[in-house]
Amino acid sequence: MLQFIGAARTVTGSKSLLDVPSGRLLVDCGLYQGRKKLRLANWQPFPVDPATIDAVVLTHAHIDHCGYLPRLVRLGFDGPVWCTPGTAELARILLPDSAHLQEDEAAYANRTGYSKHEPAVPLYTAADAAAAIELLRPVEFGAVEPVLPDVDVTWHRAGHILGAAFVRLDLQDTTVVFSGDLGRPTHPLLLPPDPIGDADVIVTESTYGDTEHLAPDADGTIADVVNDAAGCGGVVVVPAFAVDRTEVVLWHLDRLVASGRVPSIPVFVDSPMASRALDFYRDETRRGSPEIRPELHGRELFPALDIVETRSTEESKALNTRRGPMVIVSASGMATGGRVVHHLANRLGDGRNTVLLAGFQAPGTRGDRLRAGATKLKMLGRYVPVRTNVVSLDLSSHADRSELLDWIGTARSPQIVYVNHGEVDAAFALADAIETERSIPAVVPEPGERVRLDGG
Ligand SMILES: [Zn+2]
Repeated sequence: MLQFIGAARTVTGSKSLLDVPSGRLLVDCGLYQGRKKLRLANWQPFPVDPATIDAVVLTHAHIDHCGYLPRLVRLGFDGPVWCTPGTAELARILLPDSAHLQEDEAAYANRTGYSKHEPAVPLYTAADAAAAIELLRPVEFGAVEPVLPDVDVTWHRAGHILGAAFVRLDLQDTTVVFSGDLGRPTHPLLLPPDPIGDADVIVTESTYGDTEHLAPDADGTIADVVNDAAGCGGVVVVPAFAVDRTEVVLWHLDRLVASGRVPSIPVFVDSPMASRALDFYRDETRRGSPEIRPELHGRELFPALDIVETRSTEESKALNTRRGPMVIVSASGMATGGRVVHHLANRLGDGRNTVLLAGFQAPGTRGDRLRAGATKLKMLGRYVPVRTNVVSLDLSSHADRSELLDWIGTARSPQIVYVNHGEVDAAFALADAIETERSIPAVVPEPGERVRLDGG
């Protein structure tokens, strides 16, 4: 029996519960993120006693796929958490940060008195995150792991971020494939997703199930922005997700500098999380990881760039008085928090500067308001006028509609596709396309819906 308990008809909180004769598994253990109504869903009682779950299987380390783990541990789960080595490495970076955000939110509620709980408690703490990290059990790509006596699990490349996989669960008489988040064949550092092969049941994400990514001229856009900054002493502030997006932005910059299309100006990576992820991407490239494109194996990433990583708070603050031209790449990607907030507060008032938005901006975030042309923005308690240029660039690490359909087309004789991890419109559009273009029955499950996996 398979139950869709998270990410059904929405893009975060990915969780699927699998009951088989020998036990109970959870595939992905994601946190709901975004609007407050969604975040409150993290406080709902878990549909089964977490202590009855024998194991968790993770597709990748993004918080909407693993960020509920510390909560699950707090509620009594203490089984193994199986994932790729890359996912384990990135979860060790991301989960403690997520715990700090939860603790900060509770502390803020206590200061301002807005919580219904007295006193406000965090969803989980740094200690819960540490306990969750202790449960991680890395398995190499392609290796078969008997997670339960009648469930063999293998992880296959998804090309989304380092460590990201789609997982194949071989049950007694059925093979079920969970897409996790599917990447794009065009990722400059990562190899494309593997073909599916044999699968009876596919559970696929549908984040961009109704969208084709435009092919943006990323090099051209970034070149214009950097050349402008170099010409007038401006600062380019790039709010970027700490894992993967930072590397992709640096890859484009490196290529532009190496080819002489832009001058070499200082590039600051100002996010401790991004720096740790950058170290990991560098190490994996040097050692020739099977996830990294072979032409990069054994090489140093971004050799043409003059990168300075500012790890301490003092170094980060010192950037405020530094004069351009320079590029500052800093988290978070939608400017909802992190060090990029003080860079924006400091730089938005100067028309020589540019904000380069390098990815999806959720409605209501500061990034979204900047993209929409806000003339002022509230940051750190005061309104700051926006006089900078704001340039948007779609560097998505999610497969679009055609890419999802192409990937589903690599499955041999699937009987049914369940479409989750997408907003309602995107999920139904993809389900329609799977039926009409791939001739496979496709269903968008209701939140909490259960389906049988055996043929009977
Ligand atoms: Zn993801």
